[in-house]
Amino acid sequence: MHKGKINVQTENIFPIIKKFLYSDHEIFLRELISNAVDATQKVKTLSSLGEFKGELGDLTIEVVLDKEAKTLTVKDKGIGMTAEEVDKFINQIAFSSAEEWVEKYKGQSESNPIIGHFGLGFYSSFMVARQVDIHTKSYKKNQKGVHWSCDGTPEYALEDKPRSQRGTDVVLHIASDSEEFLEEAKILGLLKKYCKFLPVPIVFGTEKELVKEKDEKGEEQEKTIEKPRIINNVKPAWTQKPSDLKHEDYKKFYRELYPMGFEEPLFHIHLNVDYPFALTGILYFPKVKQNFEVQRDKIQLYCNQVFVTDTVEGIVPDFLTLLHGVIDSPDIPLNVSRSFLQSDGNVKKISSHITKKVADKLEELFKSNREDFEKKWDDIKIFIQYGMISDDKFRERAMKFCLLKNTGGKYFTFEEYRDHIKTAQTDMDKKIVHIYATNAEAQHSFVESARERGYDVLLLDTPIDSHFVNMLETELESVSFVRVDAEVTDKLIKKDEEIPSKLTQEQKDKLKPLLEKYLDQKQFNVAFENLSETEQPIIITQPEFMRRMKDMSAVGGMNFMGTMPDSYQLVVNSNHNLVGKLLEQQDEAIQEKQVRQLIDLAMLSKNLLKGEKLTQFIRRSVDLI
Ligand code: ADP
Repeated sequence: MHKGKINVQTENIFPIIKKFLYSDHEIFLRELISNAVDATQKVKTLSSLGEFKGELGDLTIEVVLDKEAKTLTVKDKGIGMTAEEVDKFINQIAFSSAEEWVEKYKGQSESNPIIGHFGLGFYSSFMVARQVDIHTKSYKKNQKGVHWSCDGTPEYALEDKPRSQRGTDVVLHIASDSEEFLEEAKILGLLKKYCKFLPVPIVFGTEKELVKEKDEKGEEQEKTIEKPRIINNVKPAWTQKPSDLKHEDYKKFYRELYPMGFEEPLFHIHLNVDYPFALTGILYFPKVKQNFEVQRDKIQLYCNQVFVTDTVEGIVPDFLTLLHGVIDSPDIPLNVSRSFLQSDGNVKKISSHITKKVADKLEELFKSNREDFEKKWDDIKIFIQYGMISDDKFRERAMKFCLLKNTGGKYFTFEEYRDHIKTAQTDMDKKIVHIYATNAEAQHSFVESARERGYDVLLLDTPIDSHFVNMLETELESVSFVRVDAEVTDKLIKKDEEIPSKLTQEQKDKLKPLLEKYLDQKQFNVAFENLSETEQPIIITQPEFMRRMKDMSAVGGMNFMGTMPDSYQLVVNSNHNLVGKLLEQQDEAIQEKQVRQLIDLAMLSKNLLKGEKLTQFIRRSVDLI
């Protein structure tokens, strides 16, 4: 028996390890199992190189919970350690790297979290254990078993102890304030989280399985058997060759990743890079719903099949966090803080590579099967638009395959659409005016009126569309966007021709106050336009600029806009018969009814007539009949 003191440079790190990282104590299990996996992979490699000549045997790693003894044990049949190695790796190297780690991240963890808390290593076990024992035997010839023990002070004991089995058992004597880690369900949950795709089989406890067996008479009988519960799939889809996988396999793997929830994904991308950085993974395109926040941030990050985190924020561009799936890369620095990540060269390369792959895939889908691409469009539209707004590189690529959908349900690329509307919708400044509705139902009368004029109306009905339209106005040449109700139809596309007015200026001046009397003047501005006689007598429009700014601020950004009231234009068609007649009306009571009726009708077609005003309108209408 040899007792020793770990060479403490600064201060006793054990209490520090225990105290901070409070919310992430659970990572100790990942660290211990990663060590067990490494030791197992090493013995396999040595065996294949002929450096280890013994039997490999069953290499399954076991996690054993003993509630009575209050221990949690991780057992591997890996390379094991000699007494000298325990002294070197555990007492010296592991300790000083843990010490270094603690020094570096003390007090930082809250505001600037470290990715997955990687690198604390073996000593993270002292976050939950009051004492840790290692029982180990090296794969090397003529070695004795070794027992190391440490109770959370820098003192340790190291002794020879007979052991038949090659490999290492790490026994944690769980501390009284960490007894949650003695619950089977808790450990099972952690294993499922961190170890689901580790490359060496891991078992924990047993599970029941229903099997069919033939009895003496040869009849089939159902029987439950108890068998070791295997935690992981050692060869997850992303580690396999794309050519070895069928569509079904990708679907199955999606279910493995997200056992609960999410509809079937639309399609996937299998990533496989080995130069200048190593990265594998599978990304899935989900059907993006309007409230996409719920589906967001579901990409899981792995490092050599060890789960690291499920927030890839900072590692992939923001718009790609709408995708689902897995990224596995040993080249992402995991023991740095998130804010540091963005500036890391490798991470930047990885991020732009993924963006490129995603654009490639979309372009390929668009080119190879346009019809199918159109079918999927409504489900991927938000994703593509978000990408185009936030990522220049992606936008460049997507300009080719991004689609516009019109209110008739037809899809166009930007170029196709330009050709489609060029003749009818070019204004006097040579701008091609794209007319759109944000809600085909609510803006129905405007859409109809634009269609009757031979205009095409796009449907841009997602919250992000206001930002999207703004972006397109700068990206596309001589193009402007205007919502169908931003102007009276006659003026949506400004032409040179002027229609003469039937009303004189004097008549207009008389009419204006008659209308203003019934309007909230903070919101409505009365204006006369010389429209065709067949246009409605009064039309309410909502000027493009303010409305769009308001819509944009609702999605994010300029918050102050959100509190501003909507502002409208009440356009009086000075050429409509009824407008002229209003002025001729001598009976004031009738005149009032007519004015209010005309205003209300305009309100109604813009969905603005509500509450008391609506009730009054209905009563007045019945009276008039
Ligand atoms: P890291 O795994 O990052 O090197 P650790 O502190 O977790 O750091 O472990 C330190 C060293 O101890 C390992 O590099 C390895 O040499 C040795 N070690 C730890 N666990 C085992 C194990 N289960 N089997 C064999 N060696 C181990």
